[in-house]
Amino acid sequence: MPRSLAASPRESARAACPRLAERRGFTVLIATDGFTSQRVADAAEQLAIRTLLASPFARDGLDARDAGELVPGICRVATRNSLSPTLRCSPALNPILARCGAGHFELVVLSARTFTSRAAIAVPSKSSAAFVSTSDDAWPRYLLHELGHTLGLRDERARLEAKSRSPARMPGPNCTATRAEARRRWGDLIARGEAGLHRGCAGHARWLRPDARTVMGFPRETTAFGAASTRYLRDAIRCCFTRHRRGCGAAAKRNPELEGCTR
Ligand SMILES: [Zn+2]
Repeated sequence: MPRSLAASPRESARAACPRLAERRGFTVLIATDGFTSQRVADAAEQLAIRTLLASPFARDGLDARDAGELVPGICRVATRNSLSPTLRCSPALNPILARCGAGHFELVVLSARTFTSRAAIAVPSKSSAAFVSTSDDAWPRYLLHELGHTLGLRDERARLEAKSRSPARMPGPNCTATRAEARRRWGDLIARGEAGLHRGCAGHARWLRPDARTVMGFPRETTAFGAASTRYLRDAIRCCFTRHRRGCGAAAKRNPELEGCTR
């Protein structure tokens, strides 16, 4: 197993990614950062994979690949501001990730450093990254929360620190400004009693979310995504990461975030 992306990037990539041909579902590259020993880093990686295997992310296949340890020189998590950790990488990383992820993946950096876990909110047709600090005992739940963001889910909270133009405060699969949009996205689940209309989402007190308490709003309390977000994640993974695309047109009508995957 490759232990370092910096030692010999080309060789590490070959060892980490022996077969790149067929996507086997949701592709997650797991890199580690700042652990005291390889044993501790391996334990964190194993717990991350077990957590993912028990989540909606694995329902249509999970392709979790060890991306090795981030080494200063290629990448480091910059934590000068603990609320907004960023991953700074040299361009040497790009060909490695492209080969490992067959061009489309989510990068998860498990870091032993102390910072507030976070991820870029992205559409599922684009690769994104999540930075998860294992300094908090609840980190496996934050892993689920942040991966939800990488596929487009918003924070199911009435208050957010994000700036007003941030994607975090825009409507998404689990947050809408109007009842009409909520009905378009999860109205059939409301009719079946599997979802509802709850106030407070994406940093707006009056916006609507489908469930009272999910991991997108309360990651300390639950690992559940709720019916609407679970369906969205499954659609996103199936339509964007596999070749099984039946029903993806209808899914993209509900949630336009999926449009880039159905072409
Ligand atoms: Zn969040």
